[in-house]
Amino acid sequence: MRQKTALIPTLREVSEAAEMVSHRLMLRAGLIRQLAAGVYTYMPLAYRVLRKVEQIVREEMDRTGAQELLLPAMHPAELWQETGRYETYGPELVKLKDRHEREFVLGPTHEEVITDLVRHFINSYKRLPMTLYQIQTKFRDERRPRSGLLRGREFIMKDAYSFHTDRESLDETYQAMYDAYVNVFTRCGLDFRAVEADAGAIGGKGTHEFMVLADSGEDTIALCNECDYAANIEMAEVVFNEPAEVTRGEQQPEKVATPKASTIEEVTKVLGVKPDQVIKSILFVADKEPVLVLVRGDHEVNEVKVKNVLNASICELADEATVRRVTGAPVGFAGPVGLKEKVKILADRAVKVMPEAVVGANEADAHLIHVVPDRDFQVDLYADLRNIQEGDVCPRCGGSIRFARGIEVGHVFKLGTRYSEVMRGTFLDKQGREQPYIMGCYGIGISRTVAAVVEQHHDENGIIWPSSIAPFQIHLIAVNMKNEDQARTAEQLYEALTQAGYEVLFDDREERAGVKFKDADLIGIPLRITVGAKVSEGLVEYKFRRSGESGELAVQEVLEQLP
Ligand code: ATP
Ligand code: MG
Ligand code: MG
Ligand code: MG
Repeated sequence: MRQKTALIPTLREVSEAAEMVSHRLMLRAGLIRQLAAGVYTYMPLAYRVLRKVEQIVREEMDRTGAQELLLPAMHPAELWQETGRYETYGPELVKLKDRHEREFVLGPTHEEVITDLVRHFINSYKRLPMTLYQIQTKFRDERRPRSGLLRGREFIMKDAYSFHTDRESLDETYQAMYDAYVNVFTRCGLDFRAVEADAGAIGGKGTHEFMVLADSGEDTIALCNECDYAANIEMAEVVFNEPAEVTRGEQQPEKVATPKASTIEEVTKVLGVKPDQVIKSILFVADKEPVLVLVRGDHEVNEVKVKNVLNASICELADEATVRRVTGAPVGFAGPVGLKEKVKILADRAVKVMPEAVVGANEADAHLIHVVPDRDFQVDLYADLRNIQEGDVCPRCGGSIRFARGIEVGHVFKLGTRYSEVMRGTFLDKQGREQPYIMGCYGIGISRTVAAVVEQHHDENGIIWPSSIAPFQIHLIAVNMKNEDQARTAEQLYEALTQAGYEVLFDDREERAGVKFKDADLIGIPLRITVGAKVSEGLVEYKFRRSGESGELAVQEVLEQLP
């Protein structure tokens, strides 16, 4: 590609609002441009990188036997109503209407659509297991889309779904996917860990997140210094749906808050946990920020930040006995002292928003009851309920725990029958009995992965692409295109290298050498070959972006020396 006519608008300065390194560098290197908050154009260089990541993902997915297809991005609302997620997914779900006032959503994920497809065609154990995947643009109206490609409202994801007759088969595919993910992220040059995302709630191996280690990451992970234990200690992020009016009973009369609504069954359904691993109650405590506390049967607690407590169902303060009666929860939890006052204040304010609900409080702390999980809040992430601290003893080997920050680039999840049951996705087993599919789902943030690579691979001058996903392998620079000798040699090299199958970005612009070198560092192509004044002696310069190692080479030798 010739730089003179390429769309690579490098910038010296970018807005201070872009805080993440990857965001700044990708803007500066002319890779992306923001069209709206969280909505980006992938310009030619970025698109080349994206396609390379996609190619790696395809190779690794295909190797597991998964089949690629492409599902629609626009889904009829009815499908989402079938699983209840039309109401419960929350404000991240992008909804729209067609000209006939029919409701649709833009897919943030595709469990409904894929289950609908498979239930239509696959009805016998003989056709299972089956794994399907796609690489597609997803839509999520994220609350804070301010990190460039790390958190877009429109972004590219690979999502795969597997269908099985039994648990063992699911376990096998889960492991194959896990291994494929390890390969993908290794090939992308990432330093990552597969972490247990819910070691507490689902009892171990039900889900893993693939975390790229980076100080800028949003998640905190606990790592063992001695074994490979790693867990996401980031507490389940619970977000109260907004606006409050939408979550209120009158809009969904069948779902008016009743004491039954905050029962164990409701909670387990949302969290996808088994009844014996149940969270007994949802408690409301206020500290500096409003906090939601989930309590398991064994009284372990997990604090969860609540973003918008005023949209929760809260009303007058109830006494301990009422709380026990309504929630069935053990009462008298130790909570931070002095919280009752804060809860009272919040509750007073909340009463104005949602008069029909109840807040429970006792001397030690306070309880939020009358809350309908899914309707009133969403749980984004299943918490590790064990509350690990830095320096703690590793629960696996007795080693020592340290904390690190991570960016979630992939997520594998055993869904079980959560979707197949409600959607009646069934097959006939060997005995002719109708059974729901046992399912798994597996996501990779393709565009986020590109940004995560930049977070890990850069220096003060710019990006340093791993060659596996670099937009080009060679950056050929003609220092002075007005010098006939340089221009001719550079043109010849461009021709020869391209012919030999190398991907070459040829800086044939009539810019100053300083500008060209600065841009080259910023763009970060692994190998630079510079045709300058020494061409009169038949020499060109090479320089590796990562190591900085440089030297001279005879023009004739260039092709011979390249790997
Ligand atoms: P997060 O916790 O960061 O919001 P998630 O858990 O909601 O992510 P999943 O539903 O697990 O995301 O989706 C699978 C993958 O898609 C994630 O592991 C991540 O790599 C990617 N992803 C999710 N949300 C975004 C986004 N807004 N922008 C870019 N990539 C995303
Ligand atoms: Mg999310
Ligand atoms: Mg997550
Ligand atoms: Mg996830």
